Amino acid sequence: MLSGKVAIVTGSTSGIGLGIANELAKLGADIVLNGFGDAGEVEKIRRGIALEHGVRVVYNGDDMSKGEAVRGMIDATIKQFGHLDILVNNAGIQFTAPVEEFPPARWQAILDINLSAAFHGIAAAVPQMRKQRWGRIVNIASAHGLVASTHKAAYVAAKHGLVGLTKVVGLETAGSGVTCNAVCPGWVRTPLVERQISDMATDKHITQKEAANELLAEKQPSLEFVSPAQLGGTVAFLCSAAADQITGTAISVDGGWTAQ
Ligand code: NAD
Repeated sequence: MLSGKVAIVTGSTSGIGLGIANELAKLGADIVLNGFGDAGEVEKIRRGIALEHGVRVVYNGDDMSKGEAVRGMIDATIKQFGHLDILVNNAGIQFTAPVEEFPPARWQAILDINLSAAFHGIAAAVPQMRKQRWGRIVNIASAHGLVASTHKAAYVAAKHGLVGLTKVVGLETAGSGVTCNAVCPGWVRTPLVERQISDMATDKHITQKEAANELLAEKQPSLEFVSPAQLGGTVAFLCSAAADQITGTAISVDGGWTAQ
């Protein structure tokens, strides 16, 4: 389905981004992996996806907190492959604290990576996608792009902003062959959430398993984690012809979290 297409997935050395990169590669897309990690580990991931799916996979280690670097990665990809078809803005970080104690540097870092990176990437990618008359932009937002929780001021603000940005870009590209949508996952058991489970286990003197169950019980009615592969499937659907008229919207994959 995606043979001959080129997809950039930011933050794809781990967790959800890696699940999305795998799913798009399975459908035949060439992949630009991005994110941090041990060089040997990243190379193992890169080779693994390339060999398993018979696609080209290149690694770009640029820091998505820097707007110029994001734009540079888009330009370099277009130069290297001659086109850019799919941009998944997924790189993200988390930090929790009450608003009055929230360190300004953490606020800024979350805004830079979880929101501004998508702006820079989209701004650099849209002209090429318009030229091709085909493009798919998928912003990985969150249930926290639609509703709030305590102690997540920066994350909730950034993710709500990302849903807003998605709507604007959906409108501006409507009818051009380019679509822009957000995916809003509930809890996914990745390193980002593993840290929150550990913190809860320590705070409440309970086991990791009990903390994970409590996290789900508090928010996610299905009481099951969403998987990176399921989110990869959602992104793949948004890249399919069935989704040609889906744009400017947010799709929840959250086990019922935001239905409450
Ligand atoms: P993760 O920590 O497993 O992966 C984050 C990825 O982003 C890694 O590859 C990391 O190297 C990369 N990254 C971090 N800072 C970067 C930077 N400055 N430049 C480039 N890459 C950077 O996290 P995850 O849970 O897979 O999260 C991925 C996205 O999904 C995030 O945007 C997150 O907000 C969102 N999300 C996660 C959950 C969840 O429950 N895990 C739920 C909703 C939304």
